[in-house]
Amino acid sequence: MQPQNLNIESVEIAAAKKSGVKLFMARADRIHPLASGNKFYKLKPHFEYAIANDIKQLVSFGGAFSNHIHALALMAKDYGLQSVGIIRGEQEYASNPTLTAARNAGMALEFVTRKEYQLRHGENYLAELQKRYPLALIIPEGGSSQLAIAGCATLTKDINAQHRSDIFTIASGTGASFAGLVCGLEETQQAISYAVLKDQSLEQRISSFINKEEIQANEYSIEQADYGGYAKFDETHLEFILDWLEQTGILLDPIYTSKMCRRLVEQLTDGQFEKGTSITMVHSGGLQGWLGMRDKVIKLEGESSWDLIQSYLLSE
Ligand SMILES: *Cc1c(COP(=O)(O)O)cnc(C)c1O
Repeated sequence: MQPQNLNIESVEIAAAKKSGVKLFMARADRIHPLASGNKFYKLKPHFEYAIANDIKQLVSFGGAFSNHIHALALMAKDYGLQSVGIIRGEQEYASNPTLTAARNAGMALEFVTRKEYQLRHGENYLAELQKRYPLALIIPEGGSSQLAIAGCATLTKDINAQHRSDIFTIASGTGASFAGLVCGLEETQQAISYAVLKDQSLEQRISSFINKEEIQANEYSIEQADYGGYAKFDETHLEFILDWLEQTGILLDPIYTSKMCRRLVEQLTDGQFEKGTSITMVHSGGLQGWLGMRDKVIKLEGESSWDLIQSYLLSE
């Protein structure tokens, strides 16, 4: 499957109009029909590396609803390579929508305890894993290796080729996508990372990702946007997402882009951006995450809200 062009769309929301800020959204959620968003940009260089080095198998880590695992499985199928997912949690997750899609794409799944999962960055553990998969490329959780930084720098270039904004924004988990985005900036551009985790080490991680690229980092900042924690999802948040969908026609994902947009709207309302500023938000994808949230959505806002979300997903 061929990736689509990256569209940049104007986003008309009341808070932006009121403050005289021009808002745009880079639709990375649509770049690839299946493996959407930043994961496509992060993983692409890994596949290119694997192919250049005659590596036939890719191994990586993730939670049971991981966008990264989902994207890795689907892209591996496209590239004709094998994939293995080391999944945090019990075997029973294998039938959830994310892992079902991954299995259907041919990914082999290995379930590990939370305790074992914690070892995923450790040198000894990785050496053991490499022994078990001697011919594989092992990719860190989230795809967040140095290769991903280069991949995400091309995201900035793809956006700039079409549209120049003053400020770029993206939601951050590990911060690798953001670091890549920063590496691709023009001198006068700035970027804001919206942290969806309560994670003190994010700033340090972003700066070390950037330093390794030996690039003069442009001005960037980090905004806290966890709204109570990573998987926290309540009525207020769902209502924000539904309101955004109504105002813009764009569905955000439950965990990442919705938190970025929610915080950005608060900043706009507080008058934190100068009149005339143009901002390009990256829609980093993650829409597959909705498929595991049906019951929650219905419980919080009723069947009709779920129907709205589902019909959007089906029209994609
Ligand atoms: C993984 C992910 C992110 C965060 O990317 P990092 O590079 O880990 O910061 C943002 N948005 C979506 C939709 C994601 O799946």
